[in-house]
Amino acid sequence: MKNYVINSLLCSVLALSSCQAQQETNTKAMKPKYNELTDQQKKVILEKATDRPFTGDYYLKNDKGVYICRQCNNPLYTSEDKFEAHCGWPSFDAAIPGAVKNVPDADGERVEIICNNCEGHLGHVFAGEGFTEKNTRYCVNTSSIVFYPAAEVKNLPSVIK
Ligand SMILES: [Zn+2]
Repeated sequence: MKNYVINSLLCSVLALSSCQAQQETNTKAMKPKYNELTDQQKKVILEKATDRPFTGDYYLKNDKGVYICRQCNNPLYTSEDKFEAHCGWPSFDAAIPGAVKNVPDADGERVEIICNNCEGHLGHVFAGEGFTEKNTRYCVNTSSIVFYPAAEVKNLPSVIK
């Protein structure tokens, strides 16, 4: 009887530890491979929220450089295509070719823009407003992007696939 109790106790301990090991493996597998995000960045990039206008570091930024995806480092926009739309968000009239995907909103009213690599939410794209010759405004959340000045472009982090 005593042996039985010990055996069954051992069994449960073993079962427990193998269960824990399994859980750790699962946690590892599910750990996001992308860059860590703040709560605000998660709200915008993962839940498609919008930064408050006239906040964030980039809406007035004029420096030469590249804007990459906050979540996966994919280069999205260059300062060449940035313009001041006075809307309170960073605005570009073109994206780096192939970097951004347009997705019509469910209500059909606006067109969402997402990173073509990680599908993180960037903002919306508007046509026909006449701001620039390209007649397009990519309205991008600061939370979704990271700026690299031209001098540091050679040190861009590699894209997380
Ligand atoms: Zn991305």
